[in-house]
Amino acid sequence: MKFVVAVVAALLAVGAPACAAPAKAPPAKAATPAPAAHVALPTDVVPERYDIAISPNARDLSFAGHEAVTIRVKRATRSITLNAADIAFQKVTISCRPEAPKISLDKTQQTATFTFAKPIAPGRYTLAIDYTGVIYKQASGFFALDYAGQKGQQRALFTQFENSDARRFAPMWDEPGIKSVFALSVDTPEGEMAVSNMPVAEVMTAPGHGGARRITRFADTPKMSSYLLFLALGDFERLHRMVGKTDVGVVVRRGDTAKAQFALDAAAELLPYYNDYFATPYPLPKLDFIAGPGRSQFFAAMENWGAIYYFDYALLVDPKLTTEAEKQNIYVDIAHEMAHQWFGDLVTMAWWDDLWLNEGFASWMENKATDHFHPEWKIWLQTKAGEQSAMATDAKGGSHPVITPIHDVFAAGNAFDAITYQKGHAVIHMLEAYVGEDVFRAGVRNYIAHHAYGNTVTDDLWNEIDKVSPKKITGIAHDFTLQAGVPLISVAATADGYRLTQGRYGADEASTAPRTWRTPVTVTGLGEPWRTVVSNKQPRARAAAAGATPLVNAGQTGYFRSRYEGELAARIAGAFPKLAAEDQLGLIYDSLALGQAGYAPMDGFLAMAVSAQAAQDPVVLKALAQQLRAVDSLYDHQPGQGAFRAFARARLAPAFSGLGWDPKAGEPDNAAILRTALLSALGQFDDPAVIAEARRRFTAWLAAPDSLTGSTRQAVLRIVAKHADARTWDQLHSLARQATDPTDKTRLYRDLGASNDPALADRALALSLTAEPPATDAPELISSVSANFPDKAFDFAMAHRAAVDAMVEPSSRTSFFAAIAGGSRDPAMTGKLTAFAATVPPSARGEVTKALASIAYRREVIAKRLPAVDRWLAAHPG
Ligand SMILES: [Zn+2]
Repeated sequence: MKFVVAVVAALLAVGAPACAAPAKAPPAKAATPAPAAHVALPTDVVPERYDIAISPNARDLSFAGHEAVTIRVKRATRSITLNAADIAFQKVTISCRPEAPKISLDKTQQTATFTFAKPIAPGRYTLAIDYTGVIYKQASGFFALDYAGQKGQQRALFTQFENSDARRFAPMWDEPGIKSVFALSVDTPEGEMAVSNMPVAEVMTAPGHGGARRITRFADTPKMSSYLLFLALGDFERLHRMVGKTDVGVVVRRGDTAKAQFALDAAAELLPYYNDYFATPYPLPKLDFIAGPGRSQFFAAMENWGAIYYFDYALLVDPKLTTEAEKQNIYVDIAHEMAHQWFGDLVTMAWWDDLWLNEGFASWMENKATDHFHPEWKIWLQTKAGEQSAMATDAKGGSHPVITPIHDVFAAGNAFDAITYQKGHAVIHMLEAYVGEDVFRAGVRNYIAHHAYGNTVTDDLWNEIDKVSPKKITGIAHDFTLQAGVPLISVAATADGYRLTQGRYGADEASTAPRTWRTPVTVTGLGEPWRTVVSNKQPRARAAAAGATPLVNAGQTGYFRSRYEGELAARIAGAFPKLAAEDQLGLIYDSLALGQAGYAPMDGFLAMAVSAQAAQDPVVLKALAQQLRAVDSLYDHQPGQGAFRAFARARLAPAFSGLGWDPKAGEPDNAAILRTALLSALGQFDDPAVIAEARRRFTAWLAAPDSLTGSTRQAVLRIVAKHADARTWDQLHSLARQATDPTDKTRLYRDLGASNDPALADRALALSLTAEPPATDAPELISSVSANFPDKAFDFAMAHRAAVDAMVEPSSRTSFFAAIAGGSRDPAMTGKLTAFAATVPPSARGEVTKALASIAYRREVIAKRLPAVDRWLAAHPG
């Protein structure tokens, strides 16, 4: 799954990225038994196969289901317990038993228990259940998305089950470690397309509707976890192509096939790469990518086996609307969810505490595969921004180990965060660099081969790599996955060379207790590369000629911060122009992080910003713009912002004057991405020329709607929206109302929440409670306002809590409130957020704890570090 980053909190916390997815079933191999430690359901009865028939009533948002589950009773029992949520049971029977069981429901645990008068002897039975369920309007369980289609206002139905919502579709043993075969059929109106994990096996006319409905039966799935089951129904078209033995398709709403070509080409290019990398061919006969309108506060895309779901914005390319950055993200999201087809779907974590094994791996693999086909995008460089947001979280209270205990499914939602995804992928990248690409891949191939159709824990992967690698990784891997925190590697000159020591980079008191990591470190600049493992018990020293400048974490594959002590700091800053782009990035990120946390003077970052303005790589310049924006946000409502903005504008001016406003023919995508980033930054810094030009282009565009497309359109709209007055806001509002493309509509509604004017922010908040914006766009309005006005947005959401809860899928409610508050700098917010936390279950409070730590840290950085920035700026005029 691609989770949705809590952008606001991350941006304002530290220098994180700115503003910103019947053919025969393959024979099942003998599965590895799932470790049972965390299985919440009784284990005396297990499912083997589900035959599920669904009859949706899209108009009434309800459905009827009939399910026949082949179960194996392992020990004699009188009761059978399985998961069910929002399910009404009509009839339950078990084969060879005439009596109906007593049905008891536990709403809190989301279980149903069927109790029989006499014990059921061990053996195989069929459990038959007639039931009804609910179709939701937010994206979890079985849900509806409405849109303006070719036939007017239309409704399509989709499912989203991760982490634990398959139980809302059918009563199930809904745990990742319990794998079964699923045989699904659905009754639909004539003319609608039905899509599931497997190809259609049979289509029949449904009895009793005068030929107006038909029943689509899908082929049996292989053995798989319940959270990977998928169904979509609607007025769809499918663009497809055979890639080897796999039918690859993109399923879109009728009329959108032109927007699907990019995704189909990307998938066709990536599939042979993955077949080779994993050395186990993709095991299903078809692989679909299904687009749905709208969005979720929780996820962008989901790796259902053979039927990957995306919201439009994460899959479809429209030349008029899609920016170069979005196009790259779409490719990366396709690579991410395809990697899950092996890592997650074919081999699945036994329980949610190893979620990172899915997500960290897919987040690393997405970059590896993308970089293979598009080296010009420099995706490894770009991914550093995400790692920074993980490090920012990991250096404060509320962080957690990559492998984190998840005691129940309700706490599993907390695990979808920057630690699981970005720290997870950074750790895998570090370990791959340590053992080498070929050795790492050999271990992964064995892991997939040995655990196919089964469940694993993290050590199963390390064991396979250690078996093929001369350098063992399990110890290092444990240090980085079983404890939270960020190592700090310091380098100091000695009498005859250099010495590396390890400490801990912690931004607050909760994160400064000493910890030990065995950290692989690469140092260059002293002759041949020095590769060593440093721990706090084993500093490393090396002789070198005086005057040589060591570059720590060369290549930036290590998950740690680097600090240059004494005169080495000035020497490495002086070497900046000659360094590789990834090492320039590392210095930009580390210098601000160390300065903010007090490990080095803020001067280091400011001097680095001056050096960095001459950088050549667009990704480095974009990072500079983002770091300057992060500092500027700290200055909001503080004296000194004017002087800082003048400094920041001057740093970005050379790059922007080189790029200009208009795309040049044949320019690289990354140049266009930099242009947008610079415009956003200069807009934030109130650059008068940029604001005036954006307004001029906006006015011209209103008269000539083809005059702005793609990145320029988005940049202009963002600047104009941020600086909107009431008249401009009304113009944007009218555009949002008229927009028919769901992605465009969402963005325009977001723009309505972006104004710096508090009165317009109030209007945007009020609009979120009306029936006007599409259901899944209403929360976007609130989160958009929170970027400028976190306290106002939080107070509004709390004052209308029931309505706001109803806008957001249940798994995201707590994190939604935490995210909108997380950008605050008001001491009163700590009390408000603590009071909010008391109203949610303890296991769901993880995001609130992180937000509280961000707010406290922001306040400290403002108080302690901005005066140093003021002093430096006064001493370095111009
Ligand atoms: Zn994922």
